[in-house]
Amino acid sequence: MEHFIKCISCGGEFGGNKVIYSCPNCGGLLEIGYDFESICERLGKSDWTSRPLSVWRYREFLPIGPLIEPITLGEGGTSLHRCQRLGERIGISRLRVKNEGENPTGSFKDRGMAVGITKALELGKRWVACASTGNTSASLAAYAAKAGIRRTVLVPKGGVAYGKIAQAIAHGAEIVEVEGNFDEALRLIIELAVRIPELYLMNSVNPYRLEGQKTLAFELFDQLGGRVPDCVVVPVGNAGNISAIWKGFRELEASGLLDPPLPRMIGIQAEGAAPIVKAFKSGSDAIDPIEEPATVATAIRIGRPASWKKALRAVRESGGLMEAVSDEEILLAQRLLAAEEGIFVEPASASSIAGLMKLRQSGEISGEEEVVCVATGHGLKDPEVIVESFKGPLSLQDFLLSIRAMAKAA
Ligand SMILES: *Cc1c(COP(=O)(O)O)cnc(C)c1O
Ligand SMILES: [Zn+2]
Repeated sequence: MEHFIKCISCGGEFGGNKVIYSCPNCGGLLEIGYDFESICERLGKSDWTSRPLSVWRYREFLPIGPLIEPITLGEGGTSLHRCQRLGERIGISRLRVKNEGENPTGSFKDRGMAVGITKALELGKRWVACASTGNTSASLAAYAAKAGIRRTVLVPKGGVAYGKIAQAIAHGAEIVEVEGNFDEALRLIIELAVRIPELYLMNSVNPYRLEGQKTLAFELFDQLGGRVPDCVVVPVGNAGNISAIWKGFRELEASGLLDPPLPRMIGIQAEGAAPIVKAFKSGSDAIDPIEEPATVATAIRIGRPASWKKALRAVRESGGLMEAVSDEEILLAQRLLAAEEGIFVEPASASSIAGLMKLRQSGEISGEEEVVCVATGHGLKDPEVIVESFKGPLSLQDFLLSIRAMAKAA
């Protein structure tokens, strides 16, 4: 699809397929732009609705040329679950959860990585790299394996869940451990990518990756039969995903497929890593980075979110909200979603449910609103969190005693 690269700060425009990670004029964040008239023409000719629900169903909206075969592991097309029981408990009559844990490597990162790695091949790159709290590295490793190219991941020492690093190892990534936290690892890999042209950066400052992630908005629209919900609640770490989802809704509108109102975007951060929430609540136009972010939700343990500006814009434009939740609230939400709805997510994902509970209690979201919570990643990514709070199994003897007591009582 024909496209260009645009700076969100100064409005500077650059040719599509240029390898840049920030605006050459002002250092601002980049995004991909399109000519929507030509998208609409193409859509008229192709039969979008007859294709399976997946990232590639929306190929006309993706910045990938027609000649390249997508690198795919079956990303996207995740379930949108009606959650009646959990909804009743929270006081939301129409609650749905979009379970991104169903993606091939277990998180929404696969949407972006499929498009990003396909783009890497289109650009002739044979080496990709990222800094990661875990899920991006798992996804990068799998898709680069499928593409047959070199893959390097920088992980912060001690800040990564086991399941995720196991995936990167299994998929044959070169794993580099960096002293310091995610923010420092990201700064380092950006510096390397700018200096080494062979190395293609796959973090979300690469605007091509976010294009894959916006397809979640398109899927919601299709899964609800050509409508959108009132609110979409999204966990926020580096802030690329909430920005991408909002971009998706805006593009549906720009193509004439969706009429306003668009959903309110609700961004949730963990209390120990909530610089964007703080900026939103104080009405500020800049964030105050957090030097030592701390939360049980490792995927959103980020103190200096790269895409904060896009996220603030998304939330404000949509008339949305931001809220911070504690680790206790996150772990409670994780247990409720697993035990009441059969959906096991990692702590970062559960922050969307925790945030919804809090905003429902404060009345900022009403019980009549139709709400979709995005569950960003699978619970098996980080099993330790659950096992640590488990009091241990019953002994067989105690179990048999409890059965005997039951029989006596009956
Ligand atoms: C990456 C990730 C997030 C945060 O997404 P951002 O785009 O960094 O805001 C949340 N949850 C999970 C499971 C993730 O992997
Ligand atoms: Zn600029």
